[in-house]
Amino acid sequence: MGGWNIEYKKIGVFVGIVSDNLRNIREQIKLACEKSGRNAQSVRLVAVSKTKPASAVLSALAEGQDLFGENRVQEARDKIPLVADGSDTQGRDVQWHLIGPLQRNKVKIAVKLFSMVHSVDSVSLAQELSKRASTIRPLPILIQVNVGGEKQKNGLPPGDVIEAVHQMANFDGIKIKGLMTVPPVTQDPQGARPFFKELATLAATIKGLQISGVEMTELSMGMSHDYIVAVEEGATLVRVGSALFGSRL
Ligand SMILES: *Cc1c(COP(=O)(O)O)cnc(C)c1O
Repeated sequence: MGGWNIEYKKIGVFVGIVSDNLRNIREQIKLACEKSGRNAQSVRLVAVSKTKPASAVLSALAEGQDLFGENRVQEARDKIPLVADGSDTQGRDVQWHLIGPLQRNKVKIAVKLFSMVHSVDSVSLAQELSKRASTIRPLPILIQVNVGGEKQKNGLPPGDVIEAVHQMANFDGIKIKGLMTVPPVTQDPQGARPFFKELATLAATIKGLQISGVEMTELSMGMSHDYIVAVEEGATLVRVGSALFGSRL
């Protein structure tokens, strides 16, 4: 009895926190759009639910959030059915994006689970995705760029991206929608601004090349720490985890 009560209270508190956080993040996105003369509709919030239980996802769903990000295929594979079973989305289409590194042997599952892959960092991975997705539907992908040139980070070096886009553009089964980045960690969110600018400039350059089948309409950049700056610099997808669901520990 007592135990149940405590659990119930914990869940109740959790729902309240997610709801407050979500409202605040949406407001911040709206303000950043106003400040930079953008339409607030042009920014989508990817609620990063990695390490968090299906109940956390359900509490965000209840507040109208229907786009979620996961960084591990196995975790998503376990969580997505739980969310589907537990949710009453009233006809809303819940979408999942993969934002973390993808191993070749997980591609086949990934193309079924996710409606977009943000983390394509090689031509060979794009080719594998193409092969597996072409029998299902064209899969939207983003090319991950290592704007800070950090050894420990995934992503193509900025100088290799244009050549990679030319090669990937020929692949059936994938649609190149834009670029994604995780900039170097800085204490001040403003420190990320030059890296966001660089990603936006690179996307604009590629758009200007008018490569057939390449859209370059999406910029996936900004996390809990720096999503406001990212929106000011043109992000269309912000990936926010801890500011929404609490720290991961
Ligand atoms: C975990 C993760 C995020 C979210 O990070 P927070 O700082 O918790 O908002 C965003 N993008 C990627 C690629 C991640 O792995």
